[in-house]
Amino acid sequence: VKQPPHVLSVQSHVVSGYVGNKSATFPLQLLGFEVDPINSVQLTNHTGYKCVKGQVLDSNDLGELMVGLRENDLDHYSHLLTGYAGSASFLKTIAKLVTDLKKKNPSLIYVCDPVMGDNGKMYVPNELLEIYRDDIIPLADIVTPNQFELELLTGRKVNNITNVQEAIKELHAKGPQTVVISSTEIDKNLTTVASTLKDGVMIKLEIPRLPAAFTGSGDLFAALFLAHSHLQGSIKPALEKTVNTLYEVLKKTHEYSKGPHEDSAQSAKKIELRLIESKKVIENPGTELVAEIL
Ligand code: ATP
Ligand code: PLP
Ligand code: MG
Ligand code: MG
Repeated sequence: VKQPPHVLSVQSHVVSGYVGNKSATFPLQLLGFEVDPINSVQLTNHTGYKCVKGQVLDSNDLGELMVGLRENDLDHYSHLLTGYAGSASFLKTIAKLVTDLKKKNPSLIYVCDPVMGDNGKMYVPNELLEIYRDDIIPLADIVTPNQFELELLTGRKVNNITNVQEAIKELHAKGPQTVVISSTEIDKNLTTVASTLKDGVMIKLEIPRLPAAFTGSGDLFAALFLAHSHLQGSIKPALEKTVNTLYEVLKKTHEYSKGPHEDSAQSAKKIELRLIESKKVIENPGTELVAEIL
């Protein structure tokens, strides 16, 4: 029997709600992936709530988990997915993790979401930028920066599709075969752009903007793109499945957010991703949004 694809996913865990591993694991499992989550933090909830409590996994803790997996010969993965990392030492240990896992499986696909910030603001320490740029990005097979992260990594401001294409080429030159910009705001719609060196294809897909701000959607994007690029084998259907799934999940989330809630419900809680209610869509995404070759 053929083994299913097996993902090691190093991301945040929240007790309540859906970001990081909580937004990545269930969709990956539904799509047939074995998922081993390492929780880089364990927090009560994401940072958009009035209070956050919890613990942070430090780089020594991560190193210890790697030793345990190796000692038991459990460190054979087809994919590694990483998201939010809060410190320089943790990110450097991730670089070592990638190198070690690729020694075990030279065809391992590393999907890196270089989470640093959004809308012109960094929400991780500044020193993480050069570690991503110089140590992590060169090891990645697929990177999924948003517009701001693309600008940070390349040192180029982007405000139209030509700039985005140039910046993507510059990112390819640092190593990754596939670059996907999860969202850019160069238009009235949100634009995602994907590019692969495999067949030299660059595509864009326009997403109508829903009138709400979601959390965990970037993490869901990276997980879905990992899954669909494995299942589809080329970027156009992979991006289309990813974005159509997200669009349906977010529409459902937005609808539910307007429904009746307990008086005490915080606005952050009302807009938590409705992943469980989206089970069918995740398994079988629609075809409404279509990508265009650039
Ligand atoms: P990250 O910060 O994780 O690198 P990001 O900033 O691009 O990524 P989002 O802004 O959440 O993360 O965008 C990810 C995807 O979520 C987009 O490609 C889009 O499909 C969807 N999305 C997010 N917000 C909206 C919205 N308001 N309307 C429609 N789609 C949205
Ligand atoms: N991880 C944690 C702990 C967060 O608090 C957040 C956002 O608040 C995220 C990840 C990022 O979520 P997104 O997928 O929207 O970028
Ligand atoms: Mg964003
Ligand atoms: Mg994110």
